[in-house]
Amino acid sequence: MKKPEILDQSLCWQAVLSRTDNGDGSFYYGVKTTGIYCRPGCSSRLPKRENVEFFLSCEEAEAKGYRACKKCRPTELGKEHYLKEKIVTACRIIESSSEHIKLADLAAEVGLSPYHFHRLFKKYLGVTPKQYSMYRQSVRFGDHVKSFGSVTEAIYEAGFGSSSVAYQKRNRKLGMKPKILKKGGEGLTIRYGISSCYLGAIIVATTGRGVCAIEFADDPEDLPTLVQARFPKAKLMEGGGDFAELLEMVVRSIEVPQQAHNIPLDIQGTAFQLQVWEVVGSINCGQTLTYTEVAQRMGKPQAARAVASAIAANSLAVVIPCHRVVGKDGRLAGYRWGIERKQQLLAKERTEET
Ligand SMILES: [Zn+2]
Repeated sequence: MKKPEILDQSLCWQAVLSRTDNGDGSFYYGVKTTGIYCRPGCSSRLPKRENVEFFLSCEEAEAKGYRACKKCRPTELGKEHYLKEKIVTACRIIESSSEHIKLADLAAEVGLSPYHFHRLFKKYLGVTPKQYSMYRQSVRFGDHVKSFGSVTEAIYEAGFGSSSVAYQKRNRKLGMKPKILKKGGEGLTIRYGISSCYLGAIIVATTGRGVCAIEFADDPEDLPTLVQARFPKAKLMEGGGDFAELLEMVVRSIEVPQQAHNIPLDIQGTAFQLQVWEVVGSINCGQTLTYTEVAQRMGKPQAARAVASAIAANSLAVVIPCHRVVGKDGRLAGYRWGIERKQQLLAKERTEET
C-alpha cells in the first residue's frame, strides 16, 4: 500500500463496506482474489477485508496488475456522468418500488452519502427523492402509465442539468396541451359511443389520443350533452363500428374494477389536477382516502379544498377512481355522477375485495 499517510485505510474500508462513493475519485480498491479494482461505491459483491488493497488512482491500481471493473468502470466514466448514472439508478429504484424507500437506504443503494445524494437528486431532478417517490407512488393508474414516459427518460432527452425543466415538460406530456383545453376543445374531433352498465347509461368519448371522457346518466340521451359541456367547441360525432371494442373494454373495467385495464387515456387538466388524479389513481380497489389524505400524499396538506374541486372536475368516471375519495369520518361527500352511484361503486369494490 502506497502513501498510507494519505489514504486512511480504515476510512476507505468503511466506505467500501457502506458502498459510499462521492464520485470524487478519492480512492479505488483492488481485490486480490479477482485481480479487479473498483470504485468504493461499486455494486459488486463485497470482498473480504484481507483481500483488499487501496489505491489513490487507477494508474496505481493498474501498475499493480489490476483490471478495471466492468460494473463501476473506474476509468471510463467522468465524475459527472458517474454521478448522473447514480441518480438515474436511484430513480429506477424508486420507480420500481411499490413502497416508499427511506433516503438513507436509497443513498446506500447507489453508494452516496445521504446528504450528497439528496443534494444531487434535487439538482438533477428539481425535486427531492421523497417528492419524486411520492409522485411515482401516485402514478399508478395501471398499464397506461407507460405512455406517460418516465422522468429519467426526460432527463436524458433534455440533457444534463436541465431536469427541472424536464420534470415540467413531463407534466405537460400527461395531458392535452393547455391551449386546446382553454379553447374548449376547439379544432378537436371527439367520437363517442353509448352503452349501459350496472350504474346506468354510460358514454365513452375519445380524442385521437385516447379516452377523454366517461360519464353516466339515467337517460342515455342526456349523455352527449355532458361531454359537449366539457368541450364546448369540439366537434362531437358518434363512433363507428370500431368503437364497440373500446366501449366494451371500458364497461368491463367498470364492472370488474379490480382488474388492470389497458385503456388508452387522454387525460386533460391543469398540472395541479393531473397531480390530484394521479394520487386518486393510486388508491387501490376496496380502499378510500379522504380529501385531506390526498392533499397530504401530494405533499400539499393545505390543499384539501383545491383537491376536492380537482376531483369534481374529473371527466373519466371510475377509470380515475375519484369515487374512492370520501369526506372525513367516511362520509361519501359529493359525486359528480350522483351519490347513489358512488355508494354502489364502493359497495361493489368492498365486497369483491374481501
Ligand atoms: Zn466495480
